[in-house]
Amino acid sequence: MSTRAQQYDAQVLRREPLAAHLVRLTLGGPGIAGFVSTGIPDEWVGVVVPGQFQSRYYTVRAWSAGELVIDVVVHDEGLVTEWASGDCVGDTVTVTEAKGSFAMPDDAAWLMLVGDLTAMPAVARISETVTTPTRIWAEVPDDLPAYLPEGADVTWLAPPAEGQSALAAAVEAIDWPAGPGYFWMAGESAQMRAIRKHLMRERRMPSAAYDVMGYWRGGAQRQPRAVDPGPIYRAGKAAGKTDEQIWAEYDDARAAE
Ligand SMILES: Cc1cc2nc3c(=O)[nH]c(=O)nc-3n(C[C@H](O)[C@H](O)[C@H](O)COP(=O)(O)OP(=O)(O)OC[C@H]3O[C@@H](n4cnc5c(N)ncnc54)[C@H](O)[C@@H]3O)c2cc1C
Repeated sequence: MSTRAQQYDAQVLRREPLAAHLVRLTLGGPGIAGFVSTGIPDEWVGVVVPGQFQSRYYTVRAWSAGELVIDVVVHDEGLVTEWASGDCVGDTVTVTEAKGSFAMPDDAAWLMLVGDLTAMPAVARISETVTTPTRIWAEVPDDLPAYLPEGADVTWLAPPAEGQSALAAAVEAIDWPAGPGYFWMAGESAQMRAIRKHLMRERRMPSAAYDVMGYWRGGAQRQPRAVDPGPIYRAGKAAGKTDEQIWAEYDDARAAE
């Protein structure tokens, strides 16, 4: 029996560059009409682009009137980066069910949001939905004047180099507010590991008071595929199989390793 989570097929309706490294894609069509948002403001979905089997995670920037908006960072190289850099309008992608993590305690008197460019969709959506006094630290390579809500209290930071992050040092230098609050942060994984240690050991924060997520791994090579999906995909397509049947064969091949 398949235990695969709910999936939706969606078409790319629009592609809109927002900045040098950020592209907005609007997904829609009948296959995604039944998409269910969790309502959690940092919710994300897995996205599989045409001809690929591996998913990459993207924050649901908005879900409204049957259209799902994701904002994609285009960096040096990557499966989704390369696809989203080109004309992908009209392509069909697979979107997995949404999951969210943001869980601010009811007694939080302040909220801190910290992230690099990949975290900005979640930072924007969180700051639109909360009324708690919020401070934001944004480490981004591009000017994003209108991306975050008007009047947001933002400290803009420049990344040390293309594709790098120094967010851990920035957080260690923060002057923290007193009283109960909530700290949310996402970005490069090594930076996030350093901050989790800092929050536990130096600041001794209870785990319910923070959420720190690695969104990408700097310096990592593209994930090797245990089974190359390319030949399986091409053979399946040539045989007239559906993507679902090809996925199942790919899963069987991996399980047989
Ligand atoms: C919960 C969650 C939500 C996320 N939301 C978003 C979002 O809304 N928008 C978004 O753009 N990303 C988001 N990400 C991050 C995104 O999934 C990764 O950056 C992903 O690796 C990009 O896939 P790719 O195919 O472009 O590159 P990959 O094929 O995965 O990676 C290729 C190479 O690029 C490097 N790399 C990957 N990401 C970056 C980057 N951002 N900057 C520099 N180098 C990189 C890798 O180290 C690797 O060497 C999210 C991740 C998670 C876990």
